Amino acid sequence: MALSFDITSAETRNALRPAAKEKPPLIGLSRQELADTLVASGIVPERQAKMRASQLWHWLYVRGVSDFAEMFNISKDLRGALAAHFSVARPEIVEEQISSDGTRKWLFRFPPRGAGRPVEIETVYIPEEGRGTLCISSQVGCTLTCSFCHTGTQKLVRNLTAEEILVQLMTARDRLGDFPDRDTPAGAIVPAEGRRITNIVMMGMGEPLYNFEEVKKALLIASDGDGLSLSKRRITLSTSGVVPEIFRTGEEIGVMLAISLHAVRDDLRDMLVPINKKYPLKDLMAACRAYPGLSNARRITFEYVMLKDVNDSLADAKELVRLLKGIPAKINLIPFNPWPGTNYQCSDWETIEKFADAVNAAGYASPIRTPRGRDILAACGQLKSESERMRKSDRLALEAMMIAGHGEA
Ligand code: SAH
Ligand code: SF4
Repeated sequence: MALSFDITSAETRNALRPAAKEKPPLIGLSRQELADTLVASGIVPERQAKMRASQLWHWLYVRGVSDFAEMFNISKDLRGALAAHFSVARPEIVEEQISSDGTRKWLFRFPPRGAGRPVEIETVYIPEEGRGTLCISSQVGCTLTCSFCHTGTQKLVRNLTAEEILVQLMTARDRLGDFPDRDTPAGAIVPAEGRRITNIVMMGMGEPLYNFEEVKKALLIASDGDGLSLSKRRITLSTSGVVPEIFRTGEEIGVMLAISLHAVRDDLRDMLVPINKKYPLKDLMAACRAYPGLSNARRITFEYVMLKDVNDSLADAKELVRLLKGIPAKINLIPFNPWPGTNYQCSDWETIEKFADAVNAAGYASPIRTPRGRDILAACGQLKSESERMRKSDRLALEAMMIAGHGEA
């Protein structure tokens, strides 16, 4: 049977072109997987596997090199063989924006990996007094449809791999000059302080607990003491409430947990965070109470987006306090970040302060998250891929809508 294609369209031509063969990445493999992969490729003998894996680990995660040619204690022949088989490259940076307040946002492009076309995701760096937080994406788009979230209007394109999750951190470190050991001779003592990225939060695009295995692999590597060395207490995973994976998050990854709560009654939460229909508040709270390692020193953060006349009454504040009773908790009040086409508005500043006062009076710290990087649209719920990027006119209209003068409570 003969097949014919209309190759007058560029799209068809591109689809027919054989994809450039990607070399498999070494970033994102555990030490054991790294050793096994080297042996399986036939370029490293079994007896050297552990040693070679440690060498590579050091170059990748302590020194931050992205080219085998820089791995000086590995012979030239082996470096060549590694480069012929594998990749340790950084992703393409499509765009880097720096806000007037120092916030940075990167748009990264990754290969299709089954999704049909290359995908683009955003990563945001937020510097603050004494710390710097990197907000990392776990999926391209999201299957969930929280009604106030811009990412929720975009369909899921695909899960990110452990490598793609990690290279967001590693490329941000490159760009911020935050691999201080890069040019230091092996064995030299380098001060650990003064790192630019001190914290990471899985609060970019996507629901991390719907990509559990890859997120787990990436976070275990990010927190490895002989590598990227981020303390697990400085890594926060935010979930909309995927109850069956919450216990595993504490048990198998051991990072700090944040819950996107946003409503204290099931009827309202069903609308704002529709996964609530599957896992209602009662189940969510039970999972929080059972979170491994929970203590006053390791509290769960409850995120609460302030939506005008929707969830911002004093009755809501009181119910919030009642709901969290007995759970070591921090409450993070997030001023809603509007986006074009949304029907929600951010609560008035006085309303947010009154809400915060009510929560504080009950003994909870409830910082109001200061809007950052607004001139580059770097805030929560505004991370979308380039394909869905706002037109300049929409962006200007949005900036005009934004409320000025928000400060830390
Ligand atoms: N999917 C995960 C993590 C990504 S969203 C989750 O939902 O927890 C990170 C945080 O930003 C969540 O608390 C989310 O509810 C919040 N968020 C989403 N859209 C927002 C918006 N427009 N304004 C303020 N916060 C928003
Ligand atoms: Fe997905 Fe989180 Fe946005 Fe909900 S708030 S749509 S879970 S990214």
